[in-house]
Amino acid sequence: MERKTCCRCGHSMPIECFHEVYYKNRGKAYRLGHCKECANQASRDNYAKYRERRLQSKKDHYSNNPWRIRLGALLARCSEGYVELNELQAMVEAAGDRCCYCGQSMNGSFTFDHALPVSLGGTNDPENLRVCCLSCNSKKGNKTEYTYRIELNGAPF
Ligand SMILES: [Zn+2]
Ligand SMILES: [Zn+2]
Repeated sequence: MERKTCCRCGHSMPIECFHEVYYKNRGKAYRLGHCKECANQASRDNYAKYRERRLQSKKDHYSNNPWRIRLGALLARCSEGYVELNELQAMVEAAGDRCCYCGQSMNGSFTFDHALPVSLGGTNDPENLRVCCLSCNSKKGNKTEYTYRIELNGAPF
């Protein structure tokens, strides 16, 4: 039986204990210089070494991405319906910094509102989401879009 000595642990063992790798440009399979056990160990070491960094970058990604935070907030309030991140972004672009209810400039601090409140069966589907100012969002509370518009403008639309 063919044997090979591992370049890392120095043990001599059957050739099957070494991973076979295929290099396309060489058109031929080769056995790695280190055994499968040493390969496993290396990947475990690597995993531990980069685990912290991976966790940190994931955390940074979420904490630094206002869109994800907003989407997360919507999802936390309501599990029915589904909106994509890019749909939210498109809605804000379409709003052009104007609150959909009062028409005032939002100065960049917009919020998403459920036209039909979650408490009344509203969902996270894009058709039920509105881009509005913080003030309207809190004043509207659990009212429907229809009720709030009448209260605000004396007319539903
Ligand atoms: Zn080895
Ligand atoms: Zn408003």
